[in-house]
Amino acid sequence: MKRVVIKVGSHVLNEAGEVSKERMLALVALVAEMQKSGKDIIIVSSGAVSSGYSKLKLDKSHIPNKQALAAIGQPLLLKMYQDKFAKYDMLCSQVLLSAADFDSRKRTKHAKAAIEVLLEHNVVPIINENDVTATEELVFGDNDRLSAHTTYYFDADMLVILSDIDAYYDKDPRENDDAKAFKNHGFIDEALLKQKCAPSDEFATGGITTKLQSAQFLLKNGKSMFLASGFDLGDVRSFLLEGVQKGGTLFSV
Ligand code: ADP
Repeated sequence: MKRVVIKVGSHVLNEAGEVSKERMLALVALVAEMQKSGKDIIIVSSGAVSSGYSKLKLDKSHIPNKQALAAIGQPLLLKMYQDKFAKYDMLCSQVLLSAADFDSRKRTKHAKAAIEVLLEHNVVPIINENDVTATEELVFGDNDRLSAHTTYYFDADMLVILSDIDAYYDKDPRENDDAKAFKNHGFIDEALLKQKCAPSDEFATGGITTKLQSAQFLLKNGKSMFLASGFDLGDVRSFLLEGVQKGGTLFSV
C-alpha cells in the first residue's frame, strides 16, 4: 500500500465546540510516522465550520452563515495543522475541492498534477470541500464521498475513515447493545445505501450511510476502505503500520 487517504470526521476533531488539539496532534503524529515508512498520505479534513463557530456564533442552519463560518474556520484549521506538522519538520498544504473538480477529466487532471507535486516533496495535502462557494447541486455535503473520490481519482490504494465509531456494525451500536462489529465487509446491500443519513452530532453531516456509499464506490473501482475510531488511533496504526487488524472494519472484495 503506497498511497493512503485519511479522512477525519467532524465529530473526531470537534471537542466541546473547539477543534481538539490533542486529537489533531495524534493524527499528525500518525501521518508523520507513515510518511517515514515511505507512504504518501493525503488528509481529508472536516472541521472548518466548527472551527469558525468557535470564533463567531452564527446560526449554522442558515446556509450563508455556514459558508461564512467555513470561510472563517478554514484558515484557522490549516494554521493548526501547520503548527502540528511543524513539530515534525513537515509541511502541509490546503487543497479546496468541489464535486465539479471530479466532474471534468481536465479539472481532475489539473488537481491531481498539483497533488503529485506536493507528495513528491513530502508535503501533506489537506483536502476539504470548498464550502464557501459550493452550491447546493454540486456540493458533496459530507467529506465521506469527497474522500472516496479523492482516493479513486488521485490513485490512492485505500481510504481510511476515522470516525466517532470504531467499526461498522450489523446495526446502530448506539441504539443496540447487542450490535456486532464486522471485521471485514464485502458486498453492500443497495437498501443500506438508501437509508436516511443520521449523523451523530450537529457538525456531522454524513452518518453511516455516506460511509457505506463511499465503500461501495471504492469496492466497485477496485479499492478498499478501512473504517476505524478517530478517538483512539491504536487500531488504525497497527493496521497501517504493522499490517495487523485489531479492530475496525475493512471493506474489500
Ligand atoms: P463522523 O462525523 O465521524 O464522520 P457520523 O456521525 O457521520 O461520523 O457517522 C457515524 C455514526 O453512525 C456512528 O456514531 C453511529 O451512531 C451511526 N451508525 C448508524 N448505524 C451504524 C452501524 N451499523 N455501524 C456503525 N455506526 C452506525
